[in-house]
Amino acid sequence: MTNDILQNETAQPVAVSIVTMGCAKNEVDSLHMGKALEGAGYALVDDAEGADCIIVNTCSFIQSATEESLQAIFEAFDLPQVKEGQGKVVVAGCMPARYGDDLTSALNEAKTFVPCSKEDDIVAVLDALFPQRGRAASAHEAAPLYSAYVKISDGCDRFCSYCTIPYIRGRYHSFTYDQIEEEIRACLARGAREIVLIAQDTGRWGDDFDEPSTLAALMGALADAHPDTWFRVMYLQPEGVTDELLRTMAAHDNICSYLDIPFQQVNERILKAMNRTGSRASYEALIAHVRDLVPGITLRTTFIAGFPTETDDESQEACDFIEDADLDYIGVFPYSQEEGTLAGRMEGQIDEDTKEERARDLRAIADSISRVRVADRIGQTMEVLVLGREEDGQLYGRAQCQAPDVDGVTYVHKGAPGDIVTVTITDTLLYEMEGE
Ligand code: SF4
Repeated sequence: MTNDILQNETAQPVAVSIVTMGCAKNEVDSLHMGKALEGAGYALVDDAEGADCIIVNTCSFIQSATEESLQAIFEAFDLPQVKEGQGKVVVAGCMPARYGDDLTSALNEAKTFVPCSKEDDIVAVLDALFPQRGRAASAHEAAPLYSAYVKISDGCDRFCSYCTIPYIRGRYHSFTYDQIEEEIRACLARGAREIVLIAQDTGRWGDDFDEPSTLAALMGALADAHPDTWFRVMYLQPEGVTDELLRTMAAHDNICSYLDIPFQQVNERILKAMNRTGSRASYEALIAHVRDLVPGITLRTTFIAGFPTETDDESQEACDFIEDADLDYIGVFPYSQEEGTLAGRMEGQIDEDTKEERARDLRAIADSISRVRVADRIGQTMEVLVLGREEDGQLYGRAQCQAPDVDGVTYVHKGAPGDIVTVTITDTLLYEMEGE
């Protein structure tokens, strides 16, 4: 292959556009593929129009995500250069991992399929598609990135009965401290002031090493090594909330005082059917304990409405819990029946209207509580990481109590993107805040 490339130094570099669907974990995978391709002389472009190759990095953990990814694939097939046979579409990520050969026959316009486990081979895959390619003279300068996601592990062994992730992403495996540190240094070189640690199950980090370690040890070491950088952890299963972690958070100003703990339900029977542990009482005790060790902490959770066999009373139990627990942010999703999962095969599936209705009820309570929790911040002084400007020039950023993509932003009147400024909150509108 190297010879082909050398023989074609005058040929145009191949322009590649990566379209990312789904969650932050997929965004990280796309960044890695992009970096590898740029390193190999491909030219990354933002616009799929005119690109020689469009990689659609798909999501398929629930049916609606699969449908959105399919739409993105069909949009890529519809691009003029693809229709004319000049552009090539590569389907990567969760869909090829979940559907394998079924996908190959259903989407035969795609040139090739790259499941998550093979994404590290993306350069070889594209080299095979573009054997006569030229090389870009140098990688274009990456845009600044003030807040960056860094993956600390992949896969999941929990096998919650409704979830396809363990089948798509495989067994749990932690990335090493050195791998994570290297990734963080690359983000800092692009201007990152906040590193958001993500994984399917962040709380397990390090327990699969020959010499086991913990998420608390990782976060403490990172926070000490980079004292001017905020660190935030997302997707912490209830079992991962340890005293060691809470104490490490409380001891470091640069570890965001924020936890995202998915509960999904609080009724013990439903939790068991979900292959999860816990109960309303144990989750209430956990929240009280977290607030004890980290006073003022911001808490987010997610709930699934209408899991198979869930009764009206059990749904009401979730409403009562949300009303009492006074959490800051609550994401609510109607249960999605997924092929290949235990819950998908269970008797007692709830009809779509009832699931939606239960989700609406939970959301209404959640929103009314969030609105009050956010409004309670008026008058508080806090640091805000400035992230950019709206079209009208208004600066916006996020405080430690706001996670990226889910909790809204804070509008500020001073500083520049990449600065951390101290403001007093003067106004709020549902999730958004304004600071002077
Ligand atoms: S912990 Fe999360 S990723 Fe793992 S099986 Fe449960 S829902 Fe899926």
